Amino acid sequence: MSFASLGLNDKLVQAINECGYTEPTPIQRQAIPLVLKGGDLLAGAQTGTGKTAGFGLPMLQRLGETRAQPLANGRAPVRALVLTPTRELAAQVEENLRAYAKHTDLRTLVMFGGVSINPQMKALGRKVDVVVATPGRLLDHVSQRSIDLSRVEMLVLDEADRMLDMGFIRDIRRILALLPKKRQNLLFSATFSDEIKALAEDLLHQPEHIEV
Ligand code: AMP
Repeated sequence: MSFASLGLNDKLVQAINECGYTEPTPIQRQAIPLVLKGGDLLAGAQTGTGKTAGFGLPMLQRLGETRAQPLANGRAPVRALVLTPTRELAAQVEENLRAYAKHTDLRTLVMFGGVSINPQMKALGRKVDVVVATPGRLLDHVSQRSIDLSRVEMLVLDEADRMLDMGFIRDIRRILALLPKKRQNLLFSATFSDEIKALAEDLLHQPEHIEV
């Protein structure tokens, strides 16, 4: 089983080779073709299973297939948003996505709290296609008007159970209200409490379910 046979294009396959991956992991085998089709996904997966590439590779491919119209102010819109519970995870996910996007013209940016907001604001002045963020800092940028989420085409909630455990549900719901209704939603969680199921019910439209 190769990455190319899952439907990924040459630019992404080249980047994957450079990362040293030889075979897709079970979650990648399941998630990549489903995400490429454009539907919503509910995935039960732990960290370390390769879930970042499972959503990141097909996300980058889909974004690369179309061009976004500029915003009214002439700037390029943010097209995909990945929310994570911690800054460590945000940094790790963005680093991976950047490596996967190496041979594309898609740009990624990470933003998390506990550090100065100014460099992140400056970075948002350039073209950014994919933002990886913790919920609180993302909302800081929203209130400073340094980010416009009105054109987000794809949303990923990564480690959704940990985000709820950390009390981010209100922040997540505030963020969801800022996104366009028509978008692709992917939810990853290691566990499925009633609270996660309720969030999935609200968020996902006829999702495919996968479990590894
Ligand atoms: P993740 O679960 O996304 O945090 O990935 C866990 C680790 O596995 C990361 O260091 C990835 O770079 C690595 N990884 C992801 N997919 C593969 C693969 N198909 N082959 C080898 N390593 C991988």
